[in-house]
Amino acid sequence: MVVGGPADCLDLGSLREHVGDCHRCPLGDSRTTLVFGSGDPHAELMFIGEAPGRNEDLTGEPFIGAAGKLLDELLAFIGLEREQVFIANVVKCRPPGNRDPMPVEIAACTPFLARQIELVSPKVISTLGKFATQYMLDTTVGITALRGKLYRVGGRRIVPVLHPAAALYNASNRPLLFDDFTRLKAVLDRGDAGAPLVVTTGSADETVAFGERLGALLAPGDVVGLSGDLGAGKTCFAQGVARGLGIEGPVPSPTFNLLLVHRGTVPMYHFDLYRLERADQLEDIDFHGTLEADGASVVEWADRFPAEMPDDRLDVAMEVTGEADRRITIVPHGDRAIAVAEGLRRSSAGAA
Ligand code: SF4
Repeated sequence: MVVGGPADCLDLGSLREHVGDCHRCPLGDSRTTLVFGSGDPHAELMFIGEAPGRNEDLTGEPFIGAAGKLLDELLAFIGLEREQVFIANVVKCRPPGNRDPMPVEIAACTPFLARQIELVSPKVISTLGKFATQYMLDTTVGITALRGKLYRVGGRRIVPVLHPAAALYNASNRPLLFDDFTRLKAVLDRGDAGAPLVVTTGSADETVAFGERLGALLAPGDVVGLSGDLGAGKTCFAQGVARGLGIEGPVPSPTFNLLLVHRGTVPMYHFDLYRLERADQLEDIDFHGTLEADGASVVEWADRFPAEMPDDRLDVAMEVTGEADRRITIVPHGDRAIAVAEGLRRSSAGAA
């Protein structure tokens, strides 16, 4: 018997022993069998579902029955077998009548899941449906908005997908689920290309120079979303991007104009969303239409309206880490952005 908490369990076997005949939340009283999770204890890909259903509750195995069959089909679609992955749920006991797990139950059970993730140490986690996704991404945003995209949490790649059961309730979800798994396979195949690129600059000139290296790689249709507090250096970075795009004139902050257009080798649309209060005001400046126009776009305060940013983009987060020091973290989203970020990684290594 392991004393202490889940963190004291050094392998899945001792964690299972630690969970024991758990009654740490009310689900312990209504379940038949606790479903701990199963699969390769060192899997590179881990799936996290919501909760056991009736078949799982009877057998103690995750994802059997109709949803499990569809999961097997989806795994085969991306060239994997169940033995190659690890599967667990947000809660380990069946909620009565397959109702949603309650916050108190999720809070009681997820320390076990968190330790399972640490012990399996997958490179990629695919969250199946709303509850697993919201837990892993620490958000209340719905699965429809989050599915099929790549996120990073604690150095792991997270790919939310629809829950297989969604395709059983509504057949029109089936092709969406296969689309999600196509993207999941792309993430697996790509390896760690697209990992965040983090650099530190020691002066405004260095920030401009780094922005210039990025600007030199941009093409029409590329979108860069800048975030960071006032004084973090966003406009300096944008000035560098402009230089890299072949723009020679001054590049002032567009705070009062909301949008300034600069003509260079590639046009640059320079937005500043700081003064906007509502997303619908973006229509006044034809935000989405401009992003798709013939230039590269740099959007300051992009984090004010994250849902309005396109799926394919580079997120650039700027932080003040010293009087003149700035930490710049670049996270690419989408194949094109990943290619740009990899180019920037190479050019930055060459410049170091
Ligand atoms: S759901 Fe989790 S916390 Fe609740 S009784 Fe089952 S194992 Fe314990």
